[in-house]
Amino acid sequence: LDFQVGDRRLAGMAAQNSGRFLRQMLVEGVGEQGQSAIVRARIVIVGCGALGSVIASFLVRAGVGHVTLIDPDRVESSNLHRQILFDEDDAVAGRAKVDAARARLSNVHPTVHVEAIVGSFDAGNADGLIGEADVVVDGTDNFTTRYEINDACVRLGKPWIYGGVVGASGMSMTVIPRRTACLRCVFPEAPVPGVGRSPERDGVFGPIVGVIGAVEAAEALKLIVGAQPARGLAQVDLWEGAMSRLDVGGPRPDCETCGHR
Ligand SMILES: [Zn+2]
Repeated sequence: LDFQVGDRRLAGMAAQNSGRFLRQMLVEGVGEQGQSAIVRARIVIVGCGALGSVIASFLVRAGVGHVTLIDPDRVESSNLHRQILFDEDDAVAGRAKVDAARARLSNVHPTVHVEAIVGSFDAGNADGLIGEADVVVDGTDNFTTRYEINDACVRLGKPWIYGGVVGASGMSMTVIPRRTACLRCVFPEAPVPGVGRSPERDGVFGPIVGVIGAVEAAEALKLIVGAQPARGLAQVDLWEGAMSRLDVGGPRPDCETCGHR
């Protein structure tokens, strides 16, 4: 499913968009050059639920030229407290999340190219999906898919941004293949279901999704404009009002994914 509103994307961009993006271009590190890199960028967001809603909103509003959304699920009313791209109508109609998101985002910025894929990200389609991407962003809620993203991105040399939330806390980390630790370097094994905290058992406090999704969107934009990514693992606990960053070092030689490269 491919969706493009108008082919005037590049034509007239400078004139038309300079007003739209003025405050963004004034940010140190963005500028006109950064903005034109953003407009040319291709970003894949895996998962279009809570985190994906926030990430996609900021990236489309920022003017990212091509955004791919992939998610197999449909909107349900139990999603609405934290999945800010959707509304009651989407839940009643049982719309596919990526279709509802694309419809909303095309109203936000009609000249951004939003591709919506109803389906799961796995080892079988990973290369095809991220082959053209400049950056891949994690909007998933499970480690199985995150490991698939990690392994494909490290193999193809694509930067990607991990993000996860549970309860009122969350984490994020930017992975630059062969330069930084990857997800498996830091978390060699997935959490065992039923052990430790999980969204199924501990829920998700809506505002944490905004914080972690915004951190992920910021990291993606920084990579696109050529800025240095944040180092290590960001940890946020909104209940405590605490934010910290953990140094995780570089790629580990004994990592299953980085080790033999
Ligand atoms: Zn690794």
